[in-house]
Amino acid sequence: MNSTPRPFTTMPAILTVLRAKALFSPPADTTAAETIPSDTPIERRGKAKRVLIIGAGLSGLVAGFELMRAGHDVTILEGQMRPGGRVHTLRSPFSDGLTTEAGAGRIPANHRWTYKYIQQFGLKTIPFAPESLATLVSIQGQQVSLTPATRLSQHFDLSREEQGLGLAELAERYIVPAIRTIRSSSDITAPDWPPASLQKFDQYTLPEFLRGQGASRAATDLLLSGALTQKASALYVLRVLAATDLNRTEKIQGGNDLLPRAIADRLADRIIYGSRVVSFAEEESRVSVTFLQDGTYHSLEADYLICSLPFSVLRNLESMPHFSQLKRQAIREMPYMSMVKVALQTKTRYWEQQGLSGFVQADLAEIWSPAWDQASPRGILQLYQEGEVAEELDRMSPEQRLRFAASYIGKVFPGLSPDFEQSTSYSWQLDKFACGAAADLRPGDLYSWYPAVASAEGRIHFAGEHTSATPAFMQGAITSGYRAATEVNERS
Ligand SMILES: Cc1cc2nc3c(=O)[nH]c(=O)nc-3n(C[C@H](O)[C@H](O)[C@H](O)COP(=O)(O)OP(=O)(O)OC[C@H]3O[C@@H](n4cnc5c(N)ncnc54)[C@H](O)[C@@H]3O)c2cc1C
Repeated sequence: MNSTPRPFTTMPAILTVLRAKALFSPPADTTAAETIPSDTPIERRGKAKRVLIIGAGLSGLVAGFELMRAGHDVTILEGQMRPGGRVHTLRSPFSDGLTTEAGAGRIPANHRWTYKYIQQFGLKTIPFAPESLATLVSIQGQQVSLTPATRLSQHFDLSREEQGLGLAELAERYIVPAIRTIRSSSDITAPDWPPASLQKFDQYTLPEFLRGQGASRAATDLLLSGALTQKASALYVLRVLAATDLNRTEKIQGGNDLLPRAIADRLADRIIYGSRVVSFAEEESRVSVTFLQDGTYHSLEADYLICSLPFSVLRNLESMPHFSQLKRQAIREMPYMSMVKVALQTKTRYWEQQGLSGFVQADLAEIWSPAWDQASPRGILQLYQEGEVAEELDRMSPEQRLRFAASYIGKVFPGLSPDFEQSTSYSWQLDKFACGAAADLRPGDLYSWYPAVASAEGRIHFAGEHTSATPAFMQGAITSGYRAATEVNERS
């Protein structure tokens, strides 16, 4: 690449920076009071309904599982040959059974809906990163190991007012007051969120908001290092931060896809794989769906439909009902983040010998060591890239992409070359079943078409992370699937 564009990073990573070595104390957790349903099935209302669900990602699976348990007649149409959608554990081409995550990686400690299903299906979680090894921040040409004692001003060009502040204090000064305001203003999971009083936070992106608070360039870069979207509305990101406590993050032992696979196993042949939906319609008292399977068109009818497709995919369907003006606008305009992960298998985890975890928050990307817990001397170093740089990676050949990732990672962890064995990469914007990594609402969207995103239209209900209060997280997919199931269950 000739020029290096300003990085855009993905939502969850600011949280990793903020939690780095427990430097960040989030404000009191109002989501702790959130009601999580018990494992008992929802009680069926009225007669059993025939329900079609498009998509066997986590939202479609949870909706299908709950409706099936309530006694409804469920069919899920899934375009791919596997369940899980954006929860996608890569098991190939690695040796020794090593795995990494192309999609969802970390589970925040307070994502209680996610943990509820993990436990219900008997799965185990382990820490996301090794806690005894150091995480690095690599920004503005400086590489710093973050500990509570790290004096940021020795490394970065902080303003006079910021001298002596650590990362936690920077967050406390520039981000936490806004999170407190958002939490105290209304229920952040309410369907009519956001209240008018929060519109002031929706006029800027998060970098603009931080600079408006007086943060220096260095403080802004530090707080946004890693994988945090930079184009999204500050309010949209701050709500996620308000609902997400990353003092501790975990992953599912054996791979995050074990959760969607376990739910899919229970749904068994109610899921029809390899069925790409091309259109759907509502006619009087029924819905109908047309899908392509093995090159042949098929149709199915039902009483109700749950559409869990990302709007980035939905807008490309051949036809759908004539929804309300705002819903159509949302489907047409909802922006999505671009993300690419490039994973490099190594003969050893040589960085661990230097006391390093292999996890890095950078101003171009994040680096992960996703196989740190796996029983092999081998390791994986994975470049995690969002935004314009991710789109540049799409335009490269596999060899160029590998060279880019190896050169980037090798600068942070010298010694990569002799240890390198093989690599693979995954682009979410090139995945035709996702067309992007996660919904990424821009300033102004929340107060224009956003209220129409999750609401049902006639016999058609909507699920998916983009319809939830925790977009870009498994929790958002799960809560939206549960909501859609209860909505359909309540229909007479
Ligand atoms: C790179 C990346 C990093 C992430 N990091 C995290 C993280 O650290 N922690 C976390 O909790 N979450 C994370 N997430 C978010 C999480 O993965 C998603 O929020 C969640 O998986 C979305 O589930 P969903 O059901 O809404 O959508 P999807 O998983 O996209 O499900 C939609 C389903 O519809 C299917 N489909 C698409 N088109 C058709 C069609 N025409 N016909 C039939 N089926 C179709 C797809 O194949 C898919 O199975 C990350 C996601 C990505 C991409």
